[in-house]
Order: sequence, then C-alpha cells, then structure tokens
Amino acid sequence: MKAYQLTAWQQPPEFRDVEVPEPGPGQVLVKVGGAGACHSDLHLMEWPEGTFAWDLPFTLGHENAGWVEVLGAGVKGVEVGEAVAVYGPWGCGRCRACRLSRENFCERAAELRALGGGLGLNGGLAEYLLVPAARLLVPLGDLDPVDAAPLSDAALTPYHAVKRNLHKLAPGTAVVVIGVGGLGHMAVQLLRALSGARVVAVDIDDRRLEHARELGAELVVNSRDGADAAERIRAFTGARRAAFVLDCVGAQPTLDLAVQIVGRNSQLTVVGVGGGVIQLGQLTLPFGCSVCTPLWGTRAELQEVIALAQNGRIHVDAHYFGIAEGPRVLQELREGKIMGRAVLVPDLD
Ligand SMILES: [Zn+2]
Ligand SMILES: [Zn+2]
Repeated sequence: MKAYQLTAWQQPPEFRDVEVPEPGPGQVLVKVGGAGACHSDLHLMEWPEGTFAWDLPFTLGHENAGWVEVLGAGVKGVEVGEAVAVYGPWGCGRCRACRLSRENFCERAAELRALGGGLGLNGGLAEYLLVPAARLLVPLGDLDPVDAAPLSDAALTPYHAVKRNLHKLAPGTAVVVIGVGGLGHMAVQLLRALSGARVVAVDIDDRRLEHARELGAELVVNSRDGADAAERIRAFTGARRAAFVLDCVGAQPTLDLAVQIVGRNSQLTVVGVGGGVIQLGQLTLPFGCSVCTPLWGTRAELQEVIALAQNGRIHVDAHYFGIAEGPRVLQELREGKIMGRAVLVPDLD
C-alpha cells in the first residue's frame, strides 16, 4: 500500500510503498476511513532533527478512524468490521496515568520514543493502520468513520482543555477562542454545548469568523489589526475580562493578545503549537491566572466526545480529499485556505 511518510526532518513528506502490516498478539489492523490533516503536522515537519526522539520514517496522520480489519491473537471485545475511532496518544498502558485512561500524560512517554500513530509511529495516511492495543479503539456506533476521524483530535483536544476548566465557566462569563480552524471550530461548539459562557472567536480570516458565528460565537473579532482586537474584546467582557482563553494557534501574536484579554483568577490554555512564548512571573499576568499547555485528551474523554457527536450536539465541518492529494492539502492548510477540517480518505484515491 501507499503511505504518506515523513522520511527526513525539515523535508516534505513522501509517498512510499510499504507492506500492509500484520497484527501481532493484542494488536488490531484498522482499515482507515479518514485521517484528518492537522496544523501540528506542518509544525512537526519543520522541527529540526532531535526535537523529539522519534525514528524516521513514519507514516503521518494522527487523527484517525476506520473499520476493524484484522484482529491479532488474543484480542477480544472488538469485532471485525466495527467502526472505531483510534485514540491518538499511545501510552505504555500500564502506568498510573494510562490506567486512568490519561495516556496523553503517560509517565513513561520518554522511553516510548513516540507519541502515537502519525507522531513517531506509523499513522493513518495509508490504507491500513496498525493499532498496538485494542484499548485504543473507541466504538463509533452509527457514526461514519470518514466523518468521525476529526473527533479524535480536532474535537478531543479542545474538549479536554474545556472540561478541565468547566468550573470557571459560570453562565455569563466570557470565553475567547483564538483561531477558528480544525480545533477552534470544534471548541466554539463544545463551549456552547458544555457551558453557559459567552463565546468570543478570534481569527485573521473573515470567512472563518463567519463560520464561528454560525456555530454560536456571540462576538467575532478579526485580530489582523493587533491592538484594536484586544480593545474590542475588552469592550465586550468589561473589567472582568475573559474567564478562559483557549489559544488554538499558539503563535507570538496570539499569545500576546491572550495576555491582554485574560482576567483575574482566569485560565489561559494554549493548545496550538505555533512556537510563541508567554512570560510568566508575578505582575506579568492578572493575579490568579493559570496557564496550561495540555496535550490532547484522555481515552474516556474521546468516548464522551463521540457521545456528543452521536447526540448531534457537535459536528465536524469537514472537506474530503484522497490521500494522493496530501501535498496540496498541507499546502492549503499552510496558507490558511482550509475551512473546518480537511480529511484524507483512502477510498477517494
Ligand atoms: Zn493534531
Ligand atoms: Zn503510561
């Protein structure tokens, strides 16, 4: 099968012919339905060698769903043909964090030398994906894996970020989502579904801001003009400012904006991997403001996200492409032309 692989750091990925993997004991082979193209794919390609202790090559694609194709010896509890989302952070499965389903915070991450499929190990930009353990598969029920793939990252990552701060999101408080791309368009919906907070969306593209408004953002602000954006948001929040700022970009201008709009005893959470830095120390931020850079979400939370999608409370706005179109999709993602999420679908090749 063809696989879209990262073969050298700071080089574009390549299509390579690889063997269809055979699942060993405990493993599961999944036929890929869809694999989301994530902005972090662009960032990881740009990292210099040694940023992470990951061995090359590996197949990209860390946001996957599909159908169970072959069960390795001893696998029970999943059926061949079953529709599943693939939980992305592949932990050791045995440490305390992993046993609590928090494999995103696996205590043995350093020795695993990979974060998961598409991030150090072979991911979903191929016809088949080898999943190392059945516990990493979450049943999708009636959801189509082609549509559901982005739930495993674009929805799970903001879900985790929001859920851990729900106690700060009393009705009437203001929350600001910066960046209305794959993660951001899910974040707006999740905040609407889970809290009574008033949602402000920030982006530099008016089409994405219109999208955010359709999804329930009360105020949308184009931050292309810098200082004016902070003023407009502060006019909306008043002196209380934002109780929660979720930065899905993480670049220097967005972090600078976040610092200007966040309130006292608030939460500033950065999930975008844009390389910006926040100065943290007394008097650099409002008193009581917590800063967090979480990673992805837990296995249990993926189940919850899927339940929200099944109940129609959230939906992914996706655009579909064949895997052969990977290079064009990544280029359009880089240029900010993708609305919602781009999903690469092997069956479209
Ligand atoms: Zn991602
Ligand atoms: Zn672990």
